Amino acid sequence: MEMYLKLCEKYQPNTILVGATVNGRDLGSKIAVSLRTGLTADCTALSVDEETGNVVWERPAFGGNLYAQILCSETRPQMGTCRPGAFKKPEKNPDNKPVVIREEISTPAQEIRTKVIDFIKACEDNDIRLDEAEIIVSGGRGMKSAENFSVLKELADALCGTVGCSRAAVDAGWMPQSKQVGQTGATVSPKIYFACGISGAVQHVAGMSESGTIIAINKDETAPIFEVADYCIIGDLFEVVPALVKELKARQQG
Ligand SMILES: Cc1cc2nc3c(=O)[nH]c(=O)nc-3n(C[C@H](O)[C@H](O)[C@H](O)COP(=O)(O)OP(=O)(O)OC[C@H]3O[C@@H](n4cnc5c(N)ncnc54)[C@H](O)[C@@H]3O)c2cc1C
Repeated sequence: MEMYLKLCEKYQPNTILVGATVNGRDLGSKIAVSLRTGLTADCTALSVDEETGNVVWERPAFGGNLYAQILCSETRPQMGTCRPGAFKKPEKNPDNKPVVIREEISTPAQEIRTKVIDFIKACEDNDIRLDEAEIIVSGGRGMKSAENFSVLKELADALCGTVGCSRAAVDAGWMPQSKQVGQTGATVSPKIYFACGISGAVQHVAGMSESGTIIAINKDETAPIFEVADYCIIGDLFEVVPALVKELKARQQG
């Protein structure tokens, strides 16, 4: 913490971006308080007001029903934490030549107040983290039971992806919270996102709308998920998903 404050004093940054990870949320807020400046937490979009130089920090508000744009116009640095996976990787621009300054940082052992005593595995072996997965196969209340998620696991495995879920599936006890996508779960932007038996509530869509290609499978043709989907499959997921797995396996073998 002290070393970050020293770096701020040395470089007088205009803006500080911190990842909205468990550590980043902790660190960002402490730095902001120490520097007596503002911090917008959990941003999902950013832009810059060219006239004032203020960053326009954007984040879901009021239960995800609207997006708030927040400015820190009075103090510097302006600070924000950004959700992992919320931003698409842009194309490389050779005209952009950022300067990277590497600082030697050391923390004397006596200053470290916490000690790692053990690791508890949160994921199964070979499981890919949601924010790192290129393909996510998510299921919602339409899965009907924890056991039925094995249908999605088969599809995820065939595509080297991972399984995600809606909050309804977590609330029902079918999936762990670490697999929840949405406003109160992970924000993801995989290359392909399957939404199976998920209606498409705003709080869910807030966490996956930046995905490259969205494929929705739902038996209700009026489900809101179809408004954000690139491919809309109207049908019973218990017929559609096994058919997809069969076809994929046939192609992989052939
Ligand atoms: C403050 C707040 C934060 C929230 N955060 C989140 C969040 O982070 N993530 C999240 O997901 N939700 C979140 N929610 C909850 C959200 O509002 C919805 O309740 C939730 O997303 C609904 O989950 P669902 O789509 O799985 O279930 P439902 O809305 O019940 O939809 C189930 C869908 O499955 C379809 N279906 C059923 N059977 C089949 C079948 N056999 N084949 C195909 N389709 C079928 C149905 O047609 C239906 O569309 C939040 C809510 C609040 C208030």
